[in-house]
Amino acid sequence: MMHPDLMKRFDLAGRSALVTGGARGIGLEIARTLRMAGASLMLADLDLDATRKAAAGVGAEVRAFRCDVADPRSVRDLAAAIGPCPDILVNNAGVGCDLPTKDISDDDWRLVISVNLDGAFYCCRTFGAAMAERGSGNIVNIGSMCGFIVAKPQNGPAYNASKAGVHMLTKNFACEWAKSGVRVNAVAPGYIATKMTSNPVSTWVELTPMGRLGRTEEIANVVQFLASDASSYMTGAILNVDGGYTSW
Ligand code: NDP
Repeated sequence: MMHPDLMKRFDLAGRSALVTGGARGIGLEIARTLRMAGASLMLADLDLDATRKAAAGVGAEVRAFRCDVADPRSVRDLAAAIGPCPDILVNNAGVGCDLPTKDISDDDWRLVISVNLDGAFYCCRTFGAAMAERGSGNIVNIGSMCGFIVAKPQNGPAYNASKAGVHMLTKNFACEWAKSGVRVNAVAPGYIATKMTSNPVSTWVELTPMGRLGRTEEIANVVQFLASDASSYMTGAILNVDGGYTSW
């Protein structure tokens, strides 16, 4: 059994956590995991009914909110609704897009950049600034291995650019708020089995050294580590959780 002093380093009891895009997939699993670690939880997503259902499944006291992270007013409304800023923010909301350049419409481009990159910026700015003012806080952004590499079989410039941007936002905010007690880190998942990857391509598994897609809890475990005191000297880090994909 784990020594209680070691368990304490991973414990989130008494801390509040906000997870965006928390109604399903990786976000929902992050919510479950942070809850198991003792955090009190708030989920925010586009569809309020789905978010309420997801929240009820995580725990009776979990609060659900509607928020479109791509809309700065919606993010400000969320901040007003949840009150004092959370101890932990997980910027998970995102949309996928593997359209090659010739097929990307202006609307496709804007949607991907506005949800994945603008959304992370608006949430970091709104909640991170309040955390910095308070003198404590922890932000975990969900980036992607596609923020580092062009994954075969085809490139997806909008998604890749949006996630590379999330990684650099992570480093910028980490430096900006390091002395204000706010840590900002990111996880860069490889292919994880969710609705976003519901039409898997054979090369995803073939090109992943571990020979399988990842499971949502394999991302959530790393988020929990980054959100806890166990990672207290880490800020500006982007952790690859990709079954070895980016190591070839
Ligand atoms: P899912 O599509 O399963 O879930 C994404 C969630 O985000 C949905 O609940 C969706 O709501 C919500 N969402 C979409 N747009 C917005 C918005 N504008 N405001 C608020 N919420 C929104 O995706 P995953 O769980 O797979 O992905 C979660 C994160 O992990 C994303 O950032 C993704 O880019 C990243 N990631 C995923 C990988 C994978 O292989 N699955 C790999 C690398 C990174 P709705 O259903 O209403 O659209």
